[in-house]
Amino acid sequence: MLDRSNELNAWDRNHFFHPSTHMGMHARGETPTRVISSGEGVYITDTNGRTSLDAFAGLYCVNVGYGRQKIADAIANQAKNLAYYHAYVGHGTQASITLSKMIIDRAPEGMSRVYFGLSGSDANETNIKLIWYYNNILGRPEKKKIISRWRGYHGSGVMTGSLTGLELFHKAFDLPRAQVLHTEAPYYFRRPDRSMDEEQFSQYCADKLEKMILAEGPDTVAAFIGEPILGTGGIVPPPKGYWEKIQAVLYKYDVMLVADEVVTGFGRLGTMFGSDHYGMKPGLITIAKGLTSAYAPLSGTIVSDKVWQVLIQGSDQMGAIGHGWTYAAHPICAAAGIANLELVDELDLVKNAGKTGAYFRSELAKAVGYHKHVGEVRGDGLMAAIEFVEDKDDRKFFDVSRKIGPQIAAALLERGVIGRAMPQGDILGFAPPLCLTKDEADIIVTNAVHAIRSVLG
Ligand code: PMP
Repeated sequence: MLDRSNELNAWDRNHFFHPSTHMGMHARGETPTRVISSGEGVYITDTNGRTSLDAFAGLYCVNVGYGRQKIADAIANQAKNLAYYHAYVGHGTQASITLSKMIIDRAPEGMSRVYFGLSGSDANETNIKLIWYYNNILGRPEKKKIISRWRGYHGSGVMTGSLTGLELFHKAFDLPRAQVLHTEAPYYFRRPDRSMDEEQFSQYCADKLEKMILAEGPDTVAAFIGEPILGTGGIVPPPKGYWEKIQAVLYKYDVMLVADEVVTGFGRLGTMFGSDHYGMKPGLITIAKGLTSAYAPLSGTIVSDKVWQVLIQGSDQMGAIGHGWTYAAHPICAAAGIANLELVDELDLVKNAGKTGAYFRSELAKAVGYHKHVGEVRGDGLMAAIEFVEDKDDRKFFDVSRKIGPQIAAALLERGVIGRAMPQGDILGFAPPLCLTKDEADIIVTNAVHAIRSVLG
């Protein structure tokens, strides 16, 4: 292929408005631009020929790894046969209908229907509207507020960015909007009182939630949304007893649970869904990334039978649902989804995520846990994080201006491994493709040790 690196670099600086990027620094050329040109297995290669082990699977989405011929063929065949038809007014395609059946076959018990979208954000937007629609049908027009958690990540739309509990996503956009509230993050390492054990901290979180529901009025609180394990907010598994105690409160006040499984859906925790892993019983489940392993953009809301029964009743009062996207259930994306889920089964990737994930996390903890600036090594399945602290005994955090997390991620990249500096705190995150081997896990661990030493000694 013609080498256009210099031209591409200029076009990128001048014309490409990147998401989640410092605009000024990028336009001025003060931050690196990296043009990725190919991928194979767990590796990606850029236009300078530099290859990196992608230990974050893109944005925790390329679960089956890069370069899968089976998915590429499925996409090409679908594009040739039928590139598009919509899903409005009862239309479908073989691919979209087949995929909905495959999803329900894999979903936790009691799930009934799939509403397709394109991104995790729009699927959560659909959830919010379904929750409101549901309560309107039930004659509870006041029951509309949605409680999320600080450090939760649910998208970057107007309402979904409001649900996201990260300051960066709020402060410059006049968010959060009304009807969205945030409660305590289930972040045991950062618990307010260090004498609490995990169960006590879970109870503390549940008590805070109950107080919030009572203060707002249970008749006004419709739903609670949470990732089974916090992702972008720091890769934080729930403390012992957390979901059980939270769900007891939700049940008491008839507040619907929404499990945002955009990251955990389809295997990342070593179970098909995180809800099964942690005993959650959601009314709605959000899915995206692992549904197609990002070979094509596709998301969905899985609706439980309990919620579906109300929605279907209401349709006689409300008429056709006034909600839809042109590209919902896009056949090319659905074809990618089918091939992807087949591959997940054929390669036994859910089991591998559990097995290799446990190996990876234990090797990581052994290799870096001793370090005086490593406060915690945590995770579950194939998700792991290292949190850096200035003082381990006092759990004193580094001043953010020192950018310890980003420096370590940059040092790791220099060594050929991609980890992610999580946005709030000095946290290095890992979420490699689910096809990771033990040897590849060892490469990540060895290089993480060197990267940490190069920045923190
Ligand atoms: N929910 C969760 C749990 C996510 O991690 C993300 C994306 N990282 C989203 C929703 C939003 O997905 P998208 O970026 O596809 O809109």
